[in-house]
Parts: sequence; structure tokens; C-alpha cells
Amino acid sequence: MILGKHVSIAGGLDKAVARAKEIGCNSLQIFVKNPRGWRARNLTDEEVNKFKQKLSEFNFSPLVVHATYLINLASPKEDLWEKSIDGLITDYSRSGRIGADYLVVHPGSHTGDGLEDGIKRISKAINDVLAQVENGTLLLLENVAGAGSSIGASFEQLQQILDNIVNKERVGICLDTCHAFAAGYDLHTKSGLDKMLTQFDEIIGLDKLRVIHLNDSRHDIGTNKDEHAHIGEGDIGKEAVKAIINHSKLKDKPFILETPWFDELPDEDVVLLKKMRN
Ligand SMILES: [Zn+2]
Repeated sequence: MILGKHVSIAGGLDKAVARAKEIGCNSLQIFVKNPRGWRARNLTDEEVNKFKQKLSEFNFSPLVVHATYLINLASPKEDLWEKSIDGLITDYSRSGRIGADYLVVHPGSHTGDGLEDGIKRISKAINDVLAQVENGTLLLLENVAGAGSSIGASFEQLQQILDNIVNKERVGICLDTCHAFAAGYDLHTKSGLDKMLTQFDEIIGLDKLRVIHLNDSRHDIGTNKDEHAHIGEGDIGKEAVKAIINHSKLKDKPFILETPWFDELPDEDVVLLKKMRN
């Protein structure tokens, strides 16, 4: 099973790999800069090399990066939209530099300006970024819970964004189970999960699904609330997560936990998932 967790890079990038290894993962997700600010501290070649060395020493794969939260590729405000493109360029170049397989970004919010124009701005921003930076990292759009004017809660919206991307082979999708559930996808039953995957395959194509953010949800289905819960402690539930990680269409995909960090080891989410994996 390919299992990773979002881990902190405090103390240096290589510390993140050590943290993920310590809790029993073979993959990981990180930020490559402070996710709540625009500024990025310098990464030295030494730090990057140490990091890459650790990854190959532990045989970690894939390496997933999550983009800065402030980025809003759908913003109707010209200055924020341009800042967002620059921010994504920073994240994307860094992802390439550290050899990341994927960079996950939330599509954005139209903040009242309308869905259609918002979708156009997202596609245009991504086309700009991909035209300006050439590297081997795939850019993944993440489905969202659907709060406010956020775009990308439905597979249809994600596909509309993808439709307008020029370099389609450089983009894909990251599916967050908590967000999908909050957005109304009934993945806590076996039939609901099957139905969701059939919809995904028909609308986007399961080959585009590169990473699964595996999170339980603190809120019920359709609430549009994005709050991750530990595995089995939310409204998705243990049985449903078991069905997800063993599903024939999902079991070979990378699963990344974005659940809260445990103060003491072991990481109970990792332990539980390994127990539940067939
Ligand atoms: Zn997520």
C-alpha cells in the first residue's frame, strides 16, 4: 500500500522524510514554503540534496507537494490573481527542483463574480504557469468541500477546468475523501462509493486520478464543511475507509493522510489503515 502523510518541514526538508518514516509511511506530502504567506525562504542545494538522498534511501514514492493556501487562481481581483500565479510558479518550480511527482492546488474561489468566469481564470492561470515553468511535476487540482464560492466541489467543475488546459498530460486530479463527502458524494456506503467512482470515470477518467487525500470528516455529508477527522472518528467511518483503501479501482493509488498530527507515536491512523488493508 502506498501510504503517506502530510508532514511538517520544520528544521529542514530532510526532517520531513524522517518524520514520515518514523510513523510507518512510504510516501509523503509537504509544503515547500510557509503555506500561509507569500514569501519563501531560500532552499539551498545542500538541503535539497540531503532531502533527495533521504527519499531514495527510504525508497519513498511518490513525493507530493501541497501549494500555498493564499493562492486563488479564480480571483476576479487582478492583483490577487497575478500574485496567485506568481505564488504557484514559486511552488511549482520548487516542486520540480526537489523532484516532486505532484503539486496539489485548490482551484480557487470566484468570490461572487460567477462560476463561469472563475473557471476560465483558473484554466488560464494554470496554462500560464505551465508555459512559464517546464518540469516533470504534475499539477493536480484538488476537489473541494464546496463552501462559499469555491470552485471544484463537483467532478463536472473540475473537468471544465481541465477542458481548457493546453498541456493536458501535465495535469491531473487529487481526490480528497473528506471534501468529496462534504460536497455530497455518498462515499460512506459501498454503493455510494461505486457510484462516485463511476461518475469520476465518466466525467474525468480514473487515469487522471493520481493521489487520494485520505481523511475522515468531522461533518456530515453535504454540509460543505472542510474539517478533517482521524480515520474512523468522523462521519465517513471506519468501514467506508476500509472499502476505499481496498477498492479495486483505488488500491494501487497513493493515499495521503491529512489528519491531525499525533502528539505521541504510533500514528493511530497509519496503524489502523495497515490493519484494514487486505
Ligand atoms: Zn486535501
